[in-house]
Amino acid sequence: MAESFESARGVILSNVSALDRESIALPLLVGRVLAEDFYAPWDMPRWDNSEMDGFAVRAVDCHVSVQLRIEGYLPAGGSGEGLSVSSGTAIRIMTGAPIPVGCDAIVPFENTESDGETVTLKQPVKSGDYIRCCGSDISAGEVMIPSGTKLRPAEINLLASFSRLDAFVFCCPRVAILSTGDELVAPGEAPAAGQIIDSNSWSLAAAVRELGAVPICLGIARDNRESLAEKIAEGLKADVLLTSAGVSSGDRDLVRDILETAGIQQLFWKVAIKPGGPTAFGLQEGTPVFSLPGNPVSSMIGFEFLVKPALLKMMGYREVIPSLHKATLKAPLRNETEKVRFLRVVAEQTKDGLLAESAGDQNTGILSTMIRANAIAVLPATRSEFSEGEPVDVQLL
Ligand code: AMP
Ligand code: MG
Repeated sequence: MAESFESARGVILSNVSALDRESIALPLLVGRVLAEDFYAPWDMPRWDNSEMDGFAVRAVDCHVSVQLRIEGYLPAGGSGEGLSVSSGTAIRIMTGAPIPVGCDAIVPFENTESDGETVTLKQPVKSGDYIRCCGSDISAGEVMIPSGTKLRPAEINLLASFSRLDAFVFCCPRVAILSTGDELVAPGEAPAAGQIIDSNSWSLAAAVRELGAVPICLGIARDNRESLAEKIAEGLKADVLLTSAGVSSGDRDLVRDILETAGIQQLFWKVAIKPGGPTAFGLQEGTPVFSLPGNPVSSMIGFEFLVKPALLKMMGYREVIPSLHKATLKAPLRNETEKVRFLRVVAEQTKDGLLAESAGDQNTGILSTMIRANAIAVLPATRSEFSEGEPVDVQLL
């Protein structure tokens, strides 16, 4: 019996967990997933400061056309110590400089005229104008980046702003990738008649790398016990093992047997999806092992919908199931199977929302449809006809 799609994904996710954490230096943190809650250690801004280059004034002094005597200069980085604004005076102040004693408003240069000794105000001023107050952005003790967040340049800026030189992030899964088949040759080798170039190793490695995990390509195992057993043993040293091909019911489809011999506890062998149906999942002492179909389109789709959520969970993400979007069909689609059907579609954002249509021939042997597609429509097993104008779920690629 094939596992349903939902239940297969549930089995996978309940059997993988986030990897250990490691401390990584600030310059290498981008793209990693934070493994601690980052609390702001102090208020931001740290002190009241000027939002503009201009003049620090007392709002009560400031009616239009008033002339104030310039009594000092306060650059960014200056402490402001010894400077104060008293009645009838102003201090020339730069953006970011601390607000001097007595001042309760900043007048930007563009709202003034100045001869260097005095400044004349061209516009009314209110108390609080152009002052960034201490803690107005971030309060001390606030959780600013929760654990499980991917660190983008913005988060890196925040960590650096609070002087963090390193942070705990989840370790990246090392994902061993094994292609299997007597017919395979590596790219660059001249294929003899009937031989097929191993492309799955490369698309799977690319998909792993794109997520931020680390692919380890084991090359090609031949369809015999020795070769498969040796490569599988090597692959089990990684955090995850992905194999492709050799799991259908062909004469030389030995992967299933060898995995059993290697002590892998199989949790399912087939999933009620198309493409990607002959996908198996098992565990060897906690190490997840995915056996994907050999067909390149099927292996990529199996990766997208079954392997990716597992890797995201191991990487420490809180959200691991990619979100589906609603797209309106430009033309009818059919699910001729009684399985969840993944159709390669072209989705286009328009003023009426997302529209989608088939990207071409949906035969799993057709790679060019995969190249044209920018999304996968996920059609439920329970219905066969999806009409023009109907909304369907799509996962953007
Ligand atoms: P199998 O699951 O072994 O029956 O393979 C199904 C189909 O996928 C066959 O046509 C294989 O030649 C092809 N195939 C298997 N492995 C790969 C690979 N690594 N790269 C490209 N095509 C493959
Ligand atoms: Mg084969």
